[in-house]
Amino acid sequence: MDAFVYQANPTRVVFGAGALARLGEEIERLGARRALVLSTPEQADSAGQVAAMLGDRAAGVFARAVMHVPIETARAAREEARRLGADCAVAVGGGSTTGLGKAIALDSGLPILAIPTTYAGSEMTPIWGLTEAGVKKTGRDPRVLPRTVIYDPALTLTLPYPLTVTSAINAIAHAAEGLYAHDVNPVVALMAEEGIRASAAALAPLQSDPTDLHARGDALYGAWLCGTVLGSVAMGLHHKLCHTLGGSFNLPHADVHTVVLPHALAYNTDDAPHAMQRIARALGESDAAAGVHALARRHGAPTSLAAIGMPADGLDRAADLAAATPYPNPRPLDRRALRALLQRAFDGVPPQRD
Ligand code: NAD
Repeated sequence: MDAFVYQANPTRVVFGAGALARLGEEIERLGARRALVLSTPEQADSAGQVAAMLGDRAAGVFARAVMHVPIETARAAREEARRLGADCAVAVGGGSTTGLGKAIALDSGLPILAIPTTYAGSEMTPIWGLTEAGVKKTGRDPRVLPRTVIYDPALTLTLPYPLTVTSAINAIAHAAEGLYAHDVNPVVALMAEEGIRASAAALAPLQSDPTDLHARGDALYGAWLCGTVLGSVAMGLHHKLCHTLGGSFNLPHADVHTVVLPHALAYNTDDAPHAMQRIARALGESDAAAGVHALARRHGAPTSLAAIGMPADGLDRAADLAAATPYPNPRPLDRRALRALLQRAFDGVPPQRD
């Protein structure tokens, strides 16, 4: 056994179908009396229901979360929290809504109670993101880590199937990169392998019936584990590419992860053989990169950047940005090979190492 450091993040997790019913006692546990409920405009009804459950303990609803947390939205939400005298943020939704809660917490230290409805995993990380003038900045701060997370699979029954697939592959990406992270440890590796297994295995039953509550529970359990991995160890090439593509070209977050992951894994295949073996085993496949590609195809997910709105003339800039600042990755960054990777991802051809 090699030497390692393991640091657990102190989030309380309440999991299970119907777990939302425990919201009141969980808010009380946090000592909160005036919760500001956050959501996207599309999930304003869910936010309203959560506020109704909170009764007197709800200070208001702010249903304006959008992807990548524009600074203007963050400022408006912070102002609303101040105006209402909020002492807690309740984020009901996916990564965009959790991200807005984090923007408030970063500024004020307000505790966050997250109720995730996608598999993005932001609720398990101390990572915040803010976008100003088209540039997305991210950082780590323990204040933005939600204090409590309520995972209720019943809330994910409405997640459209295409987003179910790409969001689950987004989760798999955290765990896959976690397995070859320079600072991975045996406990996080266990979570990563089990997270990939649970996320991938949930997709077949959900393809036949997206309202299969048991499979929804498995997918959310996988998302929790994969999110924990994201919050615990350093990410590499794949997350760097997705951050660059999503932030600079405003591409849909989960779609970008789904298209890029097989190619990023192929790039690292020879330099992280043990991690690749564990990823492949968790997928029930013989090869990690080809296995993720096959999973996406089997479930009708996008496999090309062109199909999700990436402009062809942006590929050079994306390769420049990805190669510009050094970050930990099993295989050294080579601008020529990265450009070739991006071309394959753009064209939607199967992943390969070159
Ligand atoms: P999202 O939160 O933008 O949600 C996508 C859409 O699906 C929204 O319209 C949302 O309202 C809707 N939706 C969510 N759950 C639903 C449900 N159960 N039923 C019906 N509709 C539902 O998408 P996402 O992929 O969860 O999050 C993406 C954002 O999160 C990106 O900005 C990304 O950078 C960020 N993120 C951050 C971290 C982190 O650790 N900081 C981790 C992962 C993602």
